[in-house]
Amino acid sequence: MDLAKLVEIQTAFSREKFPTFWDIKTEQDLALRLEYLTNALAGEVGEAANLVKKVVRSVVYGKGDLRLDDVKQELAEEITDVFTYLLTIAGLLGLDLEKTYLQKLEKNRKRF
Ligand SMILES: [Mg+2]
Repeated sequence: MDLAKLVEIQTAFSREKFPTFWDIKTEQDLALRLEYLTNALAGEVGEAANLVKKVVRSVVYGKGDLRLDDVKQELAEEITDVFTYLLTIAGLLGLDLEKTYLQKLEKNRKRF
């Protein structure tokens, strides 16, 4: 399955579950939806970072006995939440994530 198909599936799911959210008539509506999704994305990144913070506090600084393996499943879920919001944002904006990713990879190859 390619990325465009995942965007399509996630967008269809979101449209079905949250039809009011997808009732977008103006540029203002679109900006507000984008604001909501980018805030939600940041929240999920924060949840993942918080887990990593706790592991580092334990493994690196010896405060506690939490190991990466203990949170790996939970971390996978948070990273997947991040991915889900990225897919939704791509659907909202009509982005071709596969194409933009490969373009960015090329830029990064030249840069690093
Ligand atoms: Mg989450």
